[in-house]
Amino acid sequence: MAENPPDTDFDATLRDIRRSLDDLLAFEGRYFIVPEEVMVPEAAFVQVPAGASEAVFVADVADTTDVADLETFHQQICECVRCPLGTTRTRFVFGSGNPTADIMFVGEAPGQEEDRQGLPFVGAAGELLTKIIGAMKLSREDVYICNVLKCRPPNNRDPQPDEVASCEPYLQRQIELVQPRVICCLGRHAAHALLKTDAPLSRLRGKLHQYQGIALVVTYHPAALLRNADYKRAAWEDVKWVRKLHDGMEL
Ligand code: SF4
Repeated sequence: MAENPPDTDFDATLRDIRRSLDDLLAFEGRYFIVPEEVMVPEAAFVQVPAGASEAVFVADVADTTDVADLETFHQQICECVRCPLGTTRTRFVFGSGNPTADIMFVGEAPGQEEDRQGLPFVGAAGELLTKIIGAMKLSREDVYICNVLKCRPPNNRDPQPDEVASCEPYLQRQIELVQPRVICCLGRHAAHALLKTDAPLSRLRGKLHQYQGIALVVTYHPAALLRNADYKRAAWEDVKWVRKLHDGMEL
């Protein structure tokens, strides 16, 4: 039998191109990396009941919790004023999704729309996160989503160290209650809070970290992806890894 010719650089390049095209297909099909102006609502990824807004749907997901402790904890801390943000917030933003999720997304803090609705990731960045989760062949009801801070910093400024120190125990308790298999930090602030580092995102991405024995992957915050579409390719690699760590599925 004739031997296969040795692999060449050209073959390797062709394989890389084919893989990139596969990735493009996965993204484009889910309206993830197409320009914002041609994005269309993607009802297929979040099964919004007829007549209900997405915001209502997300609220319903949180309301269907069968883990009383997480909701009890929410009720215990929702009047918090441990830091000055407690006096400037409109709504306390605890978290939403599956209270026993295997994948937990952690962002930095509520933005304007989150502060208005009392739900995490419901603004433009949240819509992109929903698409990313859809591209992972999951829905928001499969995962749990929260932030390091539960109250909005004025004008969406970065969280201050004292605010993170005050709020962090709440996130730690949420992680204990949800017990995810994989944590995906969205942006450097979440990574810094959980990993106790100030390393730049570029050094935190692409590595498998551990938080209390839980696998932890760091990727870009969706707001950064909205500002710079060039990051989306790398973010896709990160979330594919999250999915693989979750249940072995190769996207
Ligand atoms: S940000 Fe956290 S610590 Fe500060 S008031 Fe809100 S819940 Fe309390």
